[in-house]
Amino acid sequence: MNQDIIQEFELTFFEDGKKLAMQHLSSGINHPSILALTKAVYATIDAFLESFQDYVQAEQSTVDCKKGCHWCCFQTVMTVPHEMYYLLHHLNQHFTEEAKQAILDKVEKRHARTTKLKVNHFLSLKHACPFLGEEGNCTVYEARPLACRTYLSSNVHSCKSQFDHPDDQSVYAAAFDLPLRLGRMLTDGVTAYLQERDINSYEWLFEQNLLRAHRAGSFDEWIQGKEVFKPRALSREEEAYLQKHFA
Ligand code: SF4
Repeated sequence: MNQDIIQEFELTFFEDGKKLAMQHLSSGINHPSILALTKAVYATIDAFLESFQDYVQAEQSTVDCKKGCHWCCFQTVMTVPHEMYYLLHHLNQHFTEEAKQAILDKVEKRHARTTKLKVNHFLSLKHACPFLGEEGNCTVYEARPLACRTYLSSNVHSCKSQFDHPDDQSVYAAAFDLPLRLGRMLTDGVTAYLQERDINSYEWLFEQNLLRAHRAGSFDEWIQGKEVFKPRALSREEEAYLQKHFA
């Protein structure tokens, strides 16, 4: 696909993110409207991913992701705050208190490990996602973050190789670029809308954002413009590294 078309797509997804935010939040930013917005964002990206699979087939390629395959579920996932409130709502609706607590304990464990790491180290860390089930399934599939939805591989062997060689930067999974880029633009559109209303939507580590969202009172503070999700300060090298891998 040529660069002009990709840029056009990116712009469209950015505008769509803003429009969805406006549609769901213009009459009030509160817990139900944030949940409705997140649901709409996921429905939008899921619809795109369905047509993307057809496009891939037409190009004589394949999406090699299958139910139960989980090599990508050991790597770092970046999320934004509204996704975390959606996920917590899902946990409250579908998990017992005991099961929820067991997951939060795993989230704490992963956080204890990643919070001390520099960016290049946590990006190469392989540590099972707290939501990864025993059968290799995602236990929160309907509410999984956008980063998980848009991570599609064209070759499962490349995913396995990356898993086996986490510190070798010449070995990486053959993930399709377009879904990752468009998912990011959709999120950026939502973020832009929130920022215009002085609500920060920092993208940061899944586990840390989830723990912050879980703290009592955090939602009200967040929509009042407090820096609930502000990531730690990064060195210049870390910022450059993050930019290179996630921009
Ligand atoms: S949330 Fe689900 S899909 Fe995403 S990394 Fe965790 S287990 Fe995998």
